[in-house]
Amino acid sequence: MSFNSLGLSEPLLKALSRQGYKTPTTIQEKAIPAIFKGGDLLASAQTGTGKTAGFTLPLLQILSESPVQRKRPIKVLILTPTRELAAQILMNLEQYSQFLDIRSTVIFGGVSANPQINALQKGVDILVATPGRLLDLESQHKLSLSQVEHLVLDEADRMLDMGFLRDIKRILRLLPTKRQNLLFSATFSKEIKQLANTFLTNPAIVEATPENTTVDKINQTVYRVDKKKKPALIIELIKKGNWRQVLVFTRTKYGANKLAEKMSKNGINAAAIHGNKSQNARTKALADFKKGTVRVLVATDIAARGLDIPLLPHVVNYELPNVPEDYVHRIGRTGRAGANGEAVSLVSIEELDLIKNIAKLIGFNPKTKTLEGFEPTDEIVEKPKAQKPSANRNPRSNQGRSNQRKSSGNKPKRRRY
Ligand code: AMP
Repeated sequence: MSFNSLGLSEPLLKALSRQGYKTPTTIQEKAIPAIFKGGDLLASAQTGTGKTAGFTLPLLQILSESPVQRKRPIKVLILTPTRELAAQILMNLEQYSQFLDIRSTVIFGGVSANPQINALQKGVDILVATPGRLLDLESQHKLSLSQVEHLVLDEADRMLDMGFLRDIKRILRLLPTKRQNLLFSATFSKEIKQLANTFLTNPAIVEATPENTTVDKINQTVYRVDKKKKPALIIELIKKGNWRQVLVFTRTKYGANKLAEKMSKNGINAAAIHGNKSQNARTKALADFKKGTVRVLVATDIAARGLDIPLLPHVVNYELPNVPEDYVHRIGRTGRAGANGEAVSLVSIEELDLIKNIAKLIGFNPKTKTLEGFEPTDEIVEKPKAQKPSANRNPRSNQGRSNQRKSSGNKPKRRRY
């Protein structure tokens, strides 16, 4: 299949060839014709599938086919959960529309509203927005949504996770009832289905897994290690392996800061990116990471959501996510665009159940290694059935372990991964 056969116009084809895109991705093959048909769409696709082009290309073409109105009312509204994703969508729109007379802009919180208001006042055809700033500027009458013809809800599942449901409902009430609705979500939870039912009419349903599925091209390794040795292990892996561009996931913002500081002290240029950082600090960290001046970007799940960093060679789960699907999202950041990627997870004893659930989801056990000098000492020792209660109250104490080892015929079972 070629972009040409999807019915895209010359100016778009020219822009795509400048981007170096040769063939459409699965989601593009499925979503583009469905959007051209004009009906609603429910698409299951996550970052990395090429979903952004999947909705921006047909919408750009549809807009370019109707005459430009002098005042340029907003015709397309694209809602996204995070500022970074919003900025990336705008960047894609600008790339794809470089040979078209279409104006796009982005609005999000955390930065001054004035430049955004100025851009809006000049008139824009496509507005990319995060919900809070959109409602804020709408309530100040800095923009009008009364002529929106196409609505895109991107990463809808993450929007719900971030508590945007109320805002989304408020925004829906500000839109004309006759419009095309496109909902993109990485997962189809009950909540997403409920949301889809409230505003989609007979949607076409399309699905796409990432171009490089986790099973395919991503080399996944688990390092079993004691929790307290994780900082030293990750530093060792990065230094010994001479890893250049590493995205590291932590569970908490505090943990992200602490780890980035520790790495910097150990001569590895690192920056943290999370919701407590100012927008400027986040943008700078991401730009420095892309340029290569920052070698390690430590991120929380939400901050990393939607970050588009092409050809990322290494992703590290410093701590495993609670939700197995998040593991797939995280490691989907590596091995993009046909390149092989490496995903490493540092797993302490407390996380063994999490990695089991992940293995169940992806359908296999990632290979497990230990690094010399970092062998785990905190193995769980399960109580043998006949054991006296007093013999091993504390399974982690050396005393308890040596007692068990001595009890012949009633060997403790060790849980390993
Ligand atoms: P997305 O899933 O929209 O975040 O896109 C992931 C990455 O794939 C982005 O860097 C896009 O520029 C890139 N991309 C999108 N479509 C194509 C394509 N057809 N061929 C090659 N790269 C693409």
